Amino acid sequence: MTEKEFSLQSAGINTRLTHIGNSPSEYHGFVNPPVVHASTVLFKDARTMETRAQKYTYATRGTPTTDALCEAIDELEGSAGTILVPTGLAAVTIPFLGFLSAGDHALIVDSVYAPTRHFCDTMLRRLGVEVDYYDPMIGAGIDALIKPNTKLVHTEAPGSNTFEMQDIGQISAIAHRYGCIVTMDNTWATPVYFRPLDHGVDISIHAATKYPSGHSDILMGTVSANAEHWPRLKETNITLGICGAPDDAYQILRGLRTMGVRLDRHQESALLIAEWLEGRQDVAKVLHPALPSFPGHEIWKRDFKGASGIFSFVLAVDAPEKFKAKAHAFLDALSIFGLGYSWGGFESLALHVNLNDRRICKAPAEGPVIRLQIGLEDIADLKADIERGFAAAAAV
Ligand SMILES: *Cc1c(COP(=O)(O)O)cnc(C)c1O
Repeated sequence: MTEKEFSLQSAGINTRLTHIGNSPSEYHGFVNPPVVHASTVLFKDARTMETRAQKYTYATRGTPTTDALCEAIDELEGSAGTILVPTGLAAVTIPFLGFLSAGDHALIVDSVYAPTRHFCDTMLRRLGVEVDYYDPMIGAGIDALIKPNTKLVHTEAPGSNTFEMQDIGQISAIAHRYGCIVTMDNTWATPVYFRPLDHGVDISIHAATKYPSGHSDILMGTVSANAEHWPRLKETNITLGICGAPDDAYQILRGLRTMGVRLDRHQESALLIAEWLEGRQDVAKVLHPALPSFPGHEIWKRDFKGASGIFSFVLAVDAPEKFKAKAHAFLDALSIFGLGYSWGGFESLALHVNLNDRRICKAPAEGPVIRLQIGLEDIADLKADIERGFAAAAAV
C-alpha cells in the first residue's frame, strides 16, 4: 500500500470517491485508467504460461479497468474482494448459485426485489433449494425460522418499494450462530450511506445500475465479500464465466466520482418532497425510512448515514376498486416524472407498485402505492408536477 492510499483511508467520503481505484502514475499521469478491451493476454514464455505466474492471464479474470473499479468498491465496502457482473440481478443470483446446494434452505426477506423472488421460486427451487420468506421486521424472531439445513439468510434494507427496515446487525449475529451466510442487497443506501460488512453481513450486493451509474445508461452489478467468503465468491465468478464488460466498468468508476454529491442532492430533494407529501390530504402515508413517522425509522437513524432518493407514498383512495384508475390518472398526468423501471439516474421517475407477490408484507388497504425516484431537477418543478397528478387522480 502506498503512502497516498494509506492517507485516503482516513479521508472524507467525497475525497475517497474522487481518488479511489485510481493510480495515474501507472498510466503516464493520465487521470483515468485506460479501458482495456481484451480476451487474450500474452505470456512471455511457456513456463510463465504453464504456471500463470503473471498478474493478468485472461480477461474473464480481470483487467486493469475492472481491477480499478473492484479496488474502489472494496475500499468503499471494506471488503476482501469484489466481482463485477452484468446486472444487479446477477449480483444476487450469482452468490446464491455459489453458496447454495441441493438440500439447503434459504431465508429470504419478504420485501425483497421482485426478480430475486422470481429466481428463488423458479431456478433455486428447481435446483433443490428450499426457500422461505420472512418478515423484514422480524429482528430476533429469525432464530425460530432457522432450520438445520438453513444455509443462507438474504436481507435487503430498506425493502424494495415499501422500504421496511431490517435490524441487519441482529439478524447477522443470529444467522452466524447457526453457521449461515448472510447476504445483503444494499442498492438503496450504496456503501456511502451503509456498509453491510461493518454490520456482520458476509456478502454485500449492489445494482451499480442505480446510483454508481447515475445516468440511466449502464447495467452492472457488484458483489463484495469478507475475507472468509471471498475465495468461494471469486471461484463462482470464474466457474460461471460471468463478468463485467470493460466500457461498463469504466463508466461505473466514472459515476463513482460524483456519486457522493449526487446522493446528497437526491437525499435532500427526496426528503423535502416526502415531508411535503406527508402533510397532504391526498396522501394516506409516506413510506420513507428517514421520516420519524415511519416504522423502522429508529433502525435507519441508528445504522444508516443517509437516505437516497427513492421512496413511496400511499395515495388516499376510499374504495379498492378505484385504486388502479386513480393511480393511473396520477401517473398519466405527470410530465417531468417519467414512467419507467429502475432508478438512481439523474431524472425523476414514478410507477404504480405491484405488491401481489408479497406473502407477509401485503399491500396497504388505504390506497395504491406510488413509488417516486426523485432526480436532480428543481424541487418546485417536481412539486408542481406531482400536484398535476393529484388533481387528475381526484377527478377520477
Ligand atoms: C434494480 C435492482 C436490482 C437489479 O438491478 P439490474 O441492474 O436492473 O438488474 C437488484 N436489487 C435491487 C434492490 C434493485 O433495486
